[in-house]
Formats: sequence, C-alpha cells, structure tokens
Amino acid sequence: ATPTAVMVATGVGASQGVLIKGGQALESAQKVDCIVFDKTGTLTIGKPVVVDTRLLKNTVLREFYDYAAAAEINSEHPLAKAIVEHAKKLHPEETHIWPEARNFISVTGHGVKAEVSDKSIIVGNKSFMLSSVIDIPSEALEILMEEEERARTGIIVAMDREVVGIISVSDPIKPNAHEVISYLKSMNVESIMVTGDNWGTANAISKEVGIEKIIAEAKPEQKAEVGLAIGAGTDVAIEAADIVLMKSNLEDVITAIDLSKKTFFRIR
Ligand code: ADP
Ligand code: MG
Repeated sequence: ATPTAVMVATGVGASQGVLIKGGQALESAQKVDCIVFDKTGTLTIGKPVVVDTRLLKNTVLREFYDYAAAAEINSEHPLAKAIVEHAKKLHPEETHIWPEARNFISVTGHGVKAEVSDKSIIVGNKSFMLSSVIDIPSEALEILMEEEERARTGIIVAMDREVVGIISVSDPIKPNAHEVISYLKSMNVESIMVTGDNWGTANAISKEVGIEKIIAEAKPEQKAEVGLAIGAGTDVAIEAADIVLMKSNLEDVITAIDLSKKTFFRIR
C-alpha cells in the first residue's frame, strides 16, 4: 500500500474511533489470527455492581458496608467503586460521614487494606487473604465457589483478621460480545480472554461469550503484552497495543481488520 493509502485508512479508522499506530500496525491487523481481549470493560460492560452480600458473623449490614466502603473509598478500582456505590445506597441521607481510614494500602490485582476507626479492614480476593495470613472459613470458600460458577466475583471482607462477609459483584457481558467472538471465529481468528479475576469467574464468563482460551489471575505486566486493546481497557494495555479501539465498541475489532484488508489487499 502507498503511504497515501495508509494515511487514508488511518484517517478513516480515527474517524471511527479506531486508533492505528502507523502502517506496520495497520498491515499486521489483516494477518491477525488471534486476539487477546481484556475481560473487564472490553468483553463486559465494565461497571460492576453489587448484587448480593453474605454476612458470616452477626454484623449489621450498614456497619459492614461503612467499614468496607471506608477502606475502598481511596481506590480507583471498578470493584471499589461498586462497593462504595452500594454503601451509599444504604445511607440515603446525603450528609452521611464515612468513618475515617488510615494507613490505606492498595495492592494491584489483590485488594485494599486500611485502619477504619477502631478496626483493621482487608478487602480483596482469596490470594490477598492468604498473603495477609487470614484464614478463610470453609463456609466462605463455598460461597466464593458458588459465585464463581454464576460468573460473579466474590470479594472477601475481613475485620480484625476475621472474615466477616462476602460481597458478590456482577459485571454483565456486553450484548454483542458473543456475536463478535463467533464472527471472528468464522474468519479463523481465535479469541483469548485475559483477566486479573479468578479462574472460576473467568471460566464462567468465557463460556458465556464463547471463548475457549483464557488467562486468569493475570498480573498487569502480563496484560501489557496484549497487541490490540479497547479504550476502556487498562492503561498498560493501551500503551502496548498497536491498535486501540477508543470507543470500547467490540465490533470495532472487525472494523480494524476490515480496514487493514481493504488497504493491503490491492497491492498483492
Ligand atoms: P481485571 O481488571 O482483569 O478485572 P484486576 O487485576 O484489576 O483484574 O483485579 C483482579 C482481582 O483482584 C479482582 O477480581 C479482585 O478480586 C481483586 N481486587 C483488585 N482490586 C480490588 C479492590 N480495590 N477491592 C477488592 N478486590 C480487588
Ligand atoms: Mg483491572
């Protein structure tokens, strides 16, 4: 393809929110035989919501959420936002003051810790509890497994080193996710899903969208190796990508491949 053809295609892409980083990136799109999708925000809506709470101790629901939300309020993570949003709903009066959190620590891919008023609070996944040497009772493990099978993420809340409850969060798949994945399959493009979420939930979600290969419990560094990202994805993924889909429209994956085919087919 001539430099002009590449410029035109890049321009067409940009006008549709498909950011192509140069001719090389554009050319490689048509040769794509495998696409790695970030789960959260790419295959799913990306706005998780709390759908259930299971308290294991004799705790008052509002107080449970006051502590959990106070610990999460400084976190930018979508799961943290879901917990804070839910806690707010339990306090319809706008003047509610959250308990103060001190010594806030956020561990990427694991969760958060903070001292909230008189208690030490840990909110996160199984591996975060294990690394914090918190014992997870079998009752909690069962709830977590049930939630994973339902494609939900179970978040563990520990107070003063004791697991007191599980927050179930759901992030539904995009309505067109299954269709886009099947279309890619029909073009012999294999799809892989990558996520920091646990294997159980990842498995259930991948079945819903029709993806067979998954990489779960992935570290952010692993995600940085992705070659094609969607706007709502993680910043690392966006930087590493050759092609960025700025609008988070899953069908733009197909636009990018088609654009590449159209530009590079003519010169063969
Ligand atoms: P992804 O973006 O693929 O969903 P992340 O790497 O952001 O995955 O997070 C992986 C997992 O770490 C989450 O599924 C959750 O279990 C846990 N986690 C991360 N941050 C938080 C947080 N602020 N509160 C609770 N759990 C968290
Ligand atoms: Mg994330």
